[in-house]
Amino acid sequence: MAFTFDNTYARLPEAFYARVAPTPVAAPSLIALNAGLAELLGLDADAIEPADAAALFSGNVVPEGAEPIALAYSGHQFGGFSPMLGDGRAILLGEVVGRDGVRRDLQLKGSGPTPFSRRGDGRSALGPVLREYLVSEAMHALGVPTTRALAAVWSGEPVYRERPVPGGVMTRVARSHIRVGTFQFFRARNDFDNLRRLLDYTARRLDPQAAEDDNPARALLAGVVGRQAELVATWMSLGFIHGVMNTDNTSISGETLDFGPCAFLDHYEPAKVFSSIDHGGRYAFNRQPSIAQWNLARLADCLIPLLDADEQRAIAIAEAVLSDFAGRFETALNRRFSEKIGAAPADDESRALVESLLQLMQRERADFTRTFHHLAGALDGDERPLLDDIEDGAALPDWLAGWRAYLARRGIGTPQAVQRMRAVNPVVIPRNHQIEAVIEAGNEGDFTPFHRLHAALQEPFVEHPDRAEYQRPPRPEEEVQATFCGT
Ligand code: AMP
Ligand code: MG
Repeated sequence: MAFTFDNTYARLPEAFYARVAPTPVAAPSLIALNAGLAELLGLDADAIEPADAAALFSGNVVPEGAEPIALAYSGHQFGGFSPMLGDGRAILLGEVVGRDGVRRDLQLKGSGPTPFSRRGDGRSALGPVLREYLVSEAMHALGVPTTRALAAVWSGEPVYRERPVPGGVMTRVARSHIRVGTFQFFRARNDFDNLRRLLDYTARRLDPQAAEDDNPARALLAGVVGRQAELVATWMSLGFIHGVMNTDNTSISGETLDFGPCAFLDHYEPAKVFSSIDHGGRYAFNRQPSIAQWNLARLADCLIPLLDADEQRAIAIAEAVLSDFAGRFETALNRRFSEKIGAAPADDESRALVESLLQLMQRERADFTRTFHHLAGALDGDERPLLDDIEDGAALPDWLAGWRAYLARRGIGTPQAVQRMRAVNPVVIPRNHQIEAVIEAGNEGDFTPFHRLHAALQEPFVEHPDRAEYQRPPRPEEEVQATFCGT
């Protein structure tokens, strides 16, 4: 049982990280090990004893070849700049090149204090571990770029939040943990040598063609802009609210990073906020594209000295690249929402139909996921579930008629539209109330609900008679009103 580590970040200068070993926990026990991901990373999950896995994925045993480090970064949190953040409760074990040839980071989260912990304990409660495991793996199954979950461990000791709660350690896998905040770290210190080194390292690792470009800073920025535009459009098309889009949680690789107070919309409400600490609604559902753009502008600020020796020219280059975001986001969003109503490629009429449907859904407080799911059924001849869900949907029959007529005009046959819709509109998403129920049971030592929900989330597009409870929206009394970082 061994990973073949091939560490490159730990070869960068000491300013990039702090060397720090995980702090052992009392009595680790394995809750989940992601066999498919383990195999991709060259590990045969079946050949590992659960006790060995628990020791490994809690940080109690540091595997051979690992070089544990906590990464340095800064970040804008809710708009305010913190020059010194860094991995306060995460430790990068090292990098593994997978069977697919892709290099990935292996990181423990909740494995003890680091020089970046400030007043934190470097630990994680079990609840956020279970949430991140479920939601990140659900996102992967939904086809969203995301960090992944390799393992979840119960530490066997409490952590102290408002009250003592069980502790956990999560093993996270990412294409890299470089964030906008990593660039901000060196820019804030006017450390241009390391800023250039970071650009060079990042480009080689994540954007090899940018590394070869005449202007690598411009090419890398363009790559990040494109990936963020696609990512946020995908989130919007699934009703996903990240909840804490700080620059330290904005990944250069374009993966969804940090599943703290994240949530999925139940009923459609564009300005919805779940996070209990997001008082101003900065990270509301419909503000995500403009926040992504703001975060990208912070990355561009950092790159100014590397874009051109002449500052005015550098600013002009940055502005030109950033201005691509809006168009790329709109195109991606229109494509995804058009597919959700069975039409591809998007055109003006599909856009107008989506717009009027969303307005209707907002008015009727229609469930975001269910409405799109039932639309396929309605096209297929059964309008009942849709009409049942949207009780006061007087406008719905008109909309349906307009939609049918549009598909017919474009020559999109019903089977074709239904197939397209079923491929993009999930039946099962990680509903907030289900996640809460899993955490509640997990805190009592019962992981059966975790495993059941996890299994359902692996097949998000499959309607399954045994999974009815995961396919329905919350009842009013079950609805989650607020989510917590739970750090
Ligand atoms: P997050 O809200 O997860 O993006 O974390 C923001 C910053 O707070 C990062 O620098 C984290 O490492 C740090 N942090 C969060 N929770 C803890 C904790 N329990 N102990 C130490 N640092 C923490
Ligand atoms: Mg974070």
